[in-house]
Amino acid sequence: MTKVITRFAPSPTGVLHIGSVRTALYSWLYARQNNGKFILRIEDTDKERSKKEYEDNIIDGLEWLGLTHDEFYRQSDRSDVYKRHLLALIADGTAYVSKEEPKELGERSEVIRFKNPNRVVTFHDVARGDISFDTTELGDFVIAKDFESPLYHFAVVVDDFEMRVTHVIRGDDAISNTPRQILIQEALGAPRPVYTHLPMILAPDKSKLSKRHGALAVTEYREEGYLPEAILNFVALMGWNPGNDKEIISLDEMIMLFKLEKIQKGAAVFNIDKLKWLNKHYIKLLPAEKAGKEILARFPEMLRIKAEDNSEIFSKIIVVILDHISTFGEVRFFAEAGEYRYFFEDPIYPREALLWKDEQEPTRAAEKLEKVLVLLEEIDDVFFTPETIKTAIWDYATEAGRGSVLWPMRYALSGRDKSPDPFILSSILGKEATIRRIENAIKLLLG
Ligand code: GLU
Repeated sequence: MTKVITRFAPSPTGVLHIGSVRTALYSWLYARQNNGKFILRIEDTDKERSKKEYEDNIIDGLEWLGLTHDEFYRQSDRSDVYKRHLLALIADGTAYVSKEEPKELGERSEVIRFKNPNRVVTFHDVARGDISFDTTELGDFVIAKDFESPLYHFAVVVDDFEMRVTHVIRGDDAISNTPRQILIQEALGAPRPVYTHLPMILAPDKSKLSKRHGALAVTEYREEGYLPEAILNFVALMGWNPGNDKEIISLDEMIMLFKLEKIQKGAAVFNIDKLKWLNKHYIKLLPAEKAGKEILARFPEMLRIKAEDNSEIFSKIIVVILDHISTFGEVRFFAEAGEYRYFFEDPIYPREALLWKDEQEPTRAAEKLEKVLVLLEEIDDVFFTPETIKTAIWDYATEAGRGSVLWPMRYALSGRDKSPDPFILSSILGKEATIRRIENAIKLLLG
């Protein structure tokens, strides 16, 4: 059996996009599940549009995702290889140097053209079945500007041949390129790889996918606080599924379950909400220490210093924060809106905010809090957990009216209309701070 060799062959004319990740992932999975080889090949034959920064971005993104390659090539390092094959084709008579009439000033007067046999090419595509094209209309197409400057179609075919690529897995925008590549392949005496063209990825409204739909560079997702596991899980299911309703799938499971023959024909749909949902799932699985680092990195400086000084409180709020976000990027947004400050400093708020809608009398609200204080005092410091606090207060709150007890209590602790419940808050803050904040609220009510 020949060893399976796949490749991901991006042109560094743009950043690593979420759609390209799918191409890379499927190629990677197929190689891994067959104990094969996965090649990363940078296709920079277009000298004007290719940029080093894009190459770096692509490599960086793949590395972050864990899509490791076994071999790396850059087409601009390989001119000798292309030249050798160009010369061989010319010697064979399947290509020729063509004198051109320059149409514009500075245009070249010579290019290398492929001698098109002008026939119908039929190839099999794993996802789509047999596809036929009449290549006559292509004429004798150009394959190199000169011996040092091969064009894309030629370089791809030479490389797939030289690198012994057995399976070409790529976007379906390349389908129409395949027949001419096959002609070149045959002229080179190269074997034909197995082709699988992946369906397009569309926006939910079936329009062309764009940034507006949340489709970004992979490195941007990283900055927004998405996890590689979520991105991989998400892209894996755009165009393939393991044949059941499984939505959560790890890279190891994908290696086991992935099937090239199960790639869907129809377009896949990009759904940012699904990506967020997956990310939320994976965020919750992170070890607390790692999640803590991600959160801290997104705190504004003042808050970060406070969190670092109060590491005990910070370690307790990690789960609370995780509960409310889908991406770590949201932490920055909430932090800037003042959402977490009350964990580290006593809140300041107007007196009326303490009043429950059905309990507008400050002295009565103060009475409720006085009673809460008494109940809290009875709990031992070390047992100051959400459960014991709730048990201590619940009966009284039920009897006196839950809103009129729990609202001012929660407000006294957080100073915000929305926050975790007062039992969780109290346990995070600890007995001393909880009591101090409630006393402050009572003073404010009676003042
Ligand atoms: N460089 C080509 C692209 O980025 C690769 C196509 C292929 O995989 O053959 O579209």
